[in-house]
Amino acid sequence: MSIPFIDLGAQRRRLGEPLEQAILGVVRSGAYVLGPQVAEFEQKLAAFGRARHALGCANGTDALVLALMALGAGPGDAVFCPSFTFAATGEAPILVGATPVFVDILPDTYNLDPAHLDAAIEAVKARGELTPKAVIAVDLFGQPADYPAIAEVTQKHGLKLISDSAQGFGCSLLGEQPLHWADITTTSFFPAKPLGCYGDGGAVLTDDAALHELLDSLHVHGKATASDLAGRTFAHETKYLNMRVGLNSRLDTIQAAVLLEKLKVFEEEIMLRQAVADRYADGLSDVVATPKVIHGGVSVWAQYTVEAKDRDGLGAHLKAQGVPTAVYYPIPIHRQEIYSGYPTGPGGLPVTDAKAQTVISLPMHPYLEKDVQDQIIGHVRAFHGRNA
Ligand SMILES: *Cc1c(COP(=O)(O)O)cnc(C)c1O
Repeated sequence: MSIPFIDLGAQRRRLGEPLEQAILGVVRSGAYVLGPQVAEFEQKLAAFGRARHALGCANGTDALVLALMALGAGPGDAVFCPSFTFAATGEAPILVGATPVFVDILPDTYNLDPAHLDAAIEAVKARGELTPKAVIAVDLFGQPADYPAIAEVTQKHGLKLISDSAQGFGCSLLGEQPLHWADITTTSFFPAKPLGCYGDGGAVLTDDAALHELLDSLHVHGKATASDLAGRTFAHETKYLNMRVGLNSRLDTIQAAVLLEKLKVFEEEIMLRQAVADRYADGLSDVVATPKVIHGGVSVWAQYTVEAKDRDGLGAHLKAQGVPTAVYYPIPIHRQEIYSGYPTGPGGLPVTDAKAQTVISLPMHPYLEKDVQDQIIGHVRAFHGRNA
């Protein structure tokens, strides 16, 4: 029997009949676009994310694009982000016409290095070609970036802060979620993310009512908002008024119905993931570099990523034993050919470049059984010439 990298089937069996009924309920209701499940989920998501407002959208990439549009980022603006992340983080600034400036990461957490961020902003200011506008911090592999230090930098320079929590939604630092420091949090419900649906989906969370209203407009073709209409009269129906250029990026009703069921068990699943992470750390910390979570941080463990000198040898060995692994990320964004023309912070990104050579992720999901995990641990130990 082969071991799955992420076992969505185990979760589906656990959620059982109510999940299937929820999908069937949407099918039978006929309310396919922005059905009542979308607003219900947005409300529950906001409560879970301790945000005043949450808005569903089509995917996590659109969530970033919508956030940047709402913050007014466009041509001539610099948006600072890590390169050691999924492509969408660097893609979104370009899609709105802005320029991504890639910043290095900290060697222990793989998240944005606040000192290099500050240096990158100073360098862009000194050149005077681009206007620093916003920072996208990523909660890579599920753990929060160093928000107190990052927010100090963004406040010093008057920049907006977005937390790309596609992998980290539900994580916390010093008891607070990233939105405590960020203007907008974005997330993705891609099936493999900690809170995933059965297709594509995403969301944008904010405490700022005006930003939320703007995001709501932008995700439906720039529809007129209450503020747009206030104090004005129109001869025709306002439903088809378009006040700005937006997107079609709604959260699908069937996916909202799925997410309402999944949200019920999410808190517990985060604890189950923590137990799996603890068991890996106990079994592996003397043979590979096991993950370090920022002081005061709680990770949702989107990935369990270790570092090994012979990363590729370890991957091949595990594959031969029926254990799948993955490398996130073998090619950092700034090393991809199409992104190579965009600037990096001063001195390039040596930590990012080095980590791309050593990281490897092991199977991680809330339903990883102890005996299966012990087999995985045994195979990693055997590769390093150690007994179980
Ligand atoms: C998955 C992911 C995204 C994009 O989400 P999609 O729903 O796939 O568009 C953005 N940022 C990070 C860090 C991600 O892991």
